[in-house]
Amino acid sequence: MKSPISDYLTEIITDARSATGGEVADYIPVLSEVDRELLGAALCTASGDLYSVGDDEHAFSIQSISKPFAYAVALEERGPEVVDARVGMEPSGEAFNDISLDEETGRPDNPMINVGAIAVTQLIGGRSASVDSRVGLLLDRFSALAGRQLSIDERVAESELAHSDYSMAMAYMLRDTGVVTDTAEHAVTSYIRQCAVLVTVRDLAVMAATLANGGIQPITGQRVFSQAVCRQVQAVMASAGMYNAAGRWMTTVGIPAKSGVAGGLLGTLPGRLGLATFSPPLDPQGNSVRGVKIFQRLSEDMGMHLMGAE
Ligand code: GLN
Repeated sequence: MKSPISDYLTEIITDARSATGGEVADYIPVLSEVDRELLGAALCTASGDLYSVGDDEHAFSIQSISKPFAYAVALEERGPEVVDARVGMEPSGEAFNDISLDEETGRPDNPMINVGAIAVTQLIGGRSASVDSRVGLLLDRFSALAGRQLSIDERVAESELAHSDYSMAMAYMLRDTGVVTDTAEHAVTSYIRQCAVLVTVRDLAVMAATLANGGIQPITGQRVFSQAVCRQVQAVMASAGMYNAAGRWMTTVGIPAKSGVAGGLLGTLPGRLGLATFSPPLDPQGNSVRGVKIFQRLSEDMGMHLMGAE
């Protein structure tokens, strides 16, 4: 949609190009092949108006931005008691791949770090579900959120699977404390395939807008999640979505958000809109450098900070 809003978004992404720092993730080898200058942004209102600029048709793997949505699917399917028994909701203050469990409970601290996300994915489809059925259920839900059929980037999935010893270590640890009962290989494969779902910034903005809109996809009108689930997911995103940068993020930008290692970044302004950016170079915390800059600017300009104006 062409409008003053797209002109404004274009100005913001042009301004963000001045941020030249950051490194493209290379621990998943295929991700390092990306053009680091790709840059896109999208905004979707809770009433279903979608605006996007830059490389808005470029598809990239969702990576960790899948985590809040998988958490929502698990909450919807299994209910909060079952989910809370397996994964906490406290910020860990640690990196996204921190490999520790709560000493008392044996649970991961929250569903936004890798070890928590591996546990959450295993809740979907029941204990004896196959990898394909778990991932199929997730893909269906993610597609309903985006309002179109999404698919998996098999090259990205294979590339991460070939370098998954660290995630396997997490899955073994989760088996040891009884949080995961399936084999470590199945648990890691399901999680990695979930992370390899291809999306554009337009998809992410609509997915974010669905959370912001209390679970109703604003363009198709379909109810994908309940209001209660959306509240819990956004609350956990607010405290843990940006990993060990979550505190600074909440201070400077002030809205629930989630980043992914392919360069995506998603934010929700509850009741109002969903936002997404894509730019591959990452800061040391694993968050997109240009994405963070764009969100800071949007938050200032539009007075989005949930704790009010400065
Ligand atoms: N699939 C990636 C991993 O498990 C996701 C990490 C991320 O996006 N921060 O390492």
